[in-house]
Amino acid sequence: MQMAFVPEASDPGQGVATFLGTGTSVGVPAIGCDCEVCQSNDPKNNRTRCAITVRLPGGTLLIDTPPDLRHQLIRERIRLIHAVLYTHEHADHLFGLDDLRLMPFRLGHPVPMYCTEVVERQIRAAYSYAFSDREDTHPGATPKLEPVRIDESPQSILGVRVLPIPMKHGPHFDVFGYRIGDFAYCTDTNSIPAASIERLRGVRTFVVGALRDEPHPTHFNIDQAIEVARKVGAERTLLTHTGHQLEYSVTNSRLPDGIEMAFDGLQVPIVLESASA
Ligand SMILES: [Zn+2]
Ligand SMILES: [Zn+2]
Ligand SMILES: [Zn+2]
Repeated sequence: MQMAFVPEASDPGQGVATFLGTGTSVGVPAIGCDCEVCQSNDPKNNRTRCAITVRLPGGTLLIDTPPDLRHQLIRERIRLIHAVLYTHEHADHLFGLDDLRLMPFRLGHPVPMYCTEVVERQIRAAYSYAFSDREDTHPGATPKLEPVRIDESPQSILGVRVLPIPMKHGPHFDVFGYRIGDFAYCTDTNSIPAASIERLRGVRTFVVGALRDEPHPTHFNIDQAIEVARKVGAERTLLTHTGHQLEYSVTNSRLPDGIEMAFDGLQVPIVLESASA
C-alpha cells in the first residue's frame, strides 16, 4: 500500500523517494513474452528498468540512468535532475544517460555525476562523445557531466548525508546501495556483508532487489531478500528489480508482513539527516 502522506520537499528535514522503475534488466513485460504477468492489464505488472529519484530540499537526486529514463521522467513530471548517483555500471542502470542532455540548460552548469572510479571508466568508454575535447557544434549536442569520485565513506550530496552500502553482485561485481536518512536503496545484490548490514541499522524503509523465486547467481531471490530484510529490521521493506515470474498481487499476498513489492511511480517519504550531522 502506498503511504497516504507525502511531505513537501520544502521541509528541510524531509524528502521523497519516487520509484521510476522497478523491473529486472529486460523490463516487464519482456519483449515477445506471452506469460500471464507480461500480458497482465495491472499497471503494477508493467515495470520499467530500475531507478529512483530522491526529492531533497537542495534538489532532485537521480540514482542510476536506465534506458527508460526519458519515459520515466515525463511520466512522473520531473523537470529537473540536480545530481546523478550510480549504483554500478550495468547496461540496465546506465544506458539512459543521454536523456540528461537537457538538464545543464536548466541548471546553468554540468550535472554532478557521483560514482566510483570503475563506474566512471565505463561511463567514459560508453559515452566517449560526452567527454570529448572537441567543441560542440551547438549547445546541448552532448550531455554535460561533472564526475565526482565516491568511495565507501559518507558523501554530502545536495546538502544531505548519503552513506554508501558496499555489496556484492555475483562474483565479479561490487555495487553500492545507498542510505539517505531513514531510507536505504539496495538493488542488484546477492550478498550484503555484515559491516554493510550495520550501516543499514535503524532504516525505516529498506528497498532491496529480489529477482524471482528461483536462485540466481547475481541477485537475491525472494527467500534471500526476506532473510536480509529480517536482519535489517526495517518497518517497511520494498522489493525491486523484480522479474516477470512475480505477479504483483499474488506475490504481495504471500510476502510476510512489512514486506511488499515496489511498483513504478510508488512514492515513499524520507526523514533526512543534514550533511553536517
Ligand atoms: Zn540491474
Ligand atoms: Zn513474461
Ligand atoms: Zn546489475
